[in-house]
Amino acid sequence: MICPIENEDIEVLLAYCSGTVGDAKAAELKLHVSGCPDCAPFVQLQHAVWNALDVWESNPVSSDFDRRLYARIAEVDREPWYRRAFDFVRPMFQQPALPLAAATVVIMAGFFFDRKQVILPVPSQPAAIRVSVTEAEQVERTLDDIQMLHQFDLDSQEAEKPSKSM
Ligand SMILES: [Zn+2]
Repeated sequence: MICPIENEDIEVLLAYCSGTVGDAKAAELKLHVSGCPDCAPFVQLQHAVWNALDVWESNPVSSDFDRRLYARIAEVDREPWYRRAFDFVRPMFQQPALPLAAATVVIMAGFFFDRKQVILPVPSQPAAIRVSVTEAEQVERTLDDIQMLHQFDLDSQEAEKPSKSM
């Protein structure tokens, strides 16, 4: 017989240990295992696991377990979808490294989009003009300032006229 462990066919040894192989196969495996230095310890450990599982007893389930379980399922079903989604995501953010990584990504994205070049096509000119977003914002702010100063100048001139008449 070919050794199941050498043949990487562990399932047949597991089936032998659980007693789910036929009598002929079981006899063949018993003969092999008794003389195989690889299979013998494997089968011995499997029998130890099976014996431990036979002895192990789980804690008894409380009498109202089913009622509480279905009540909890119904409670979750009544929650809005975004609450369930948050409950699904929340454990990820309870890890100490994840909020730091998320903050780093947000900061890096801020730097990336701050330095992004925008190409504005100008219909009257054949070549596109490169203007950075920050330059365009500075020009807009300067124009707003000039307009505000001009308005302030007009307001101050109007304010002087009544004072002269007084
Ligand atoms: Zn073997």
